[in-house]
Amino acid sequence: MPKAREILLQGTIIYGDDFTPLDGYICIRGGIIREFGSEHVDADYEGIVCPRFVNAHVHVGDSAFKDPPFLPLSKLVGPDGLKARNLAQMPHAVLLEGMRRSLQLMAASGTCAFADFREGGAEGVSMLQEAVLGLPLIARVLGRPGTGQINIPDSCWGLGISSTRDHDPDHIRATVAAARQRSMAVGVHAGEAGNDDIGAALALHPDFLVHMNRAEEADLRDVAQAGIPIVVCPRSNLVTGVGLPNVKRMLELGITIAVGTDNVMMNSPDVFEEMHFISKALLHDDRQVFKMCTLNGAKMTGLDQRLGSIREGKEAKVMVIDKKSDNMWGAMAPLSSIVRRAVRSDIIAIF
Ligand SMILES: [Zn+2]
Repeated sequence: MPKAREILLQGTIIYGDDFTPLDGYICIRGGIIREFGSEHVDADYEGIVCPRFVNAHVHVGDSAFKDPPFLPLSKLVGPDGLKARNLAQMPHAVLLEGMRRSLQLMAASGTCAFADFREGGAEGVSMLQEAVLGLPLIARVLGRPGTGQINIPDSCWGLGISSTRDHDPDHIRATVAAARQRSMAVGVHAGEAGNDDIGAALALHPDFLVHMNRAEEADLRDVAQAGIPIVVCPRSNLVTGVGLPNVKRMLELGITIAVGTDNVMMNSPDVFEEMHFISKALLHDDRQVFKMCTLNGAKMTGLDQRLGSIREGKEAKVMVIDKKSDNMWGAMAPLSSIVRRAVRSDIIAIF
């Protein structure tokens, strides 16, 4: 039986890599899940215990100018678009405040790790690292290549590339080669405004692609064959009016799918909201949708040995959801209710 100084969480445990709801408890000691058991214990918290989210694609740098007019993609986030103009005008302190607030929201809404495509070179990366300081979040920062020179800051986990059509092909190849030499991950936006940039993105042999909402069957087959994961950001695709990703087909082809909330200026970085949308509009498979928001994101960010599911030996990056809240009361299938309706205010405790 568990000893003192341990944290005990009791209720429905969304257990293992297949996210099976089991009645019982988990015991946490030193931040690690030590034990799962099925008997009743005198627990610290009681509810639905599930792993926290991994937001696999976000841009928190644009948090200080939310909800712009509905504009075509290139006018919003293109090289001379509204985002770039706003970033150039806003004072440093305001941008930093926006980032800090988004990161606080992410932590409070159950996210434990995120991958951010960060512009602004070394200064931009250190701003994000300053903003995340003291928050219970693991930051995977991907620096964006500048024009003309190869300038990925050493402090980056990876290289995050916008569509290959925004870049000179030789320059981008050299930047990717430099990133590889430093064992950095490489992620590329592709198939967002059209499918004409997918071939060039695949030729870079990236670790993952972002969006692919405009991918055709042949594109998805190529991606499946290459074994490259895709991060989908469907609510962002709705705002920019570029069409939604065929998540169902991606899954049928065996592609690993993770989920991101993309630009904060367009959508709240709350994974619950993305999950609700995907589960209703794109894929009626609650277990798969939950996996995309947790374990698959962890895989994509190289964190799946540490977190992303509830198993003995993994870090206890878990949260407890209130079964008796006004929102959750009457839930017959705990995992389905988390995926389709749970919100931030249903969280009782976060570890
Ligand atoms: Zn993006």
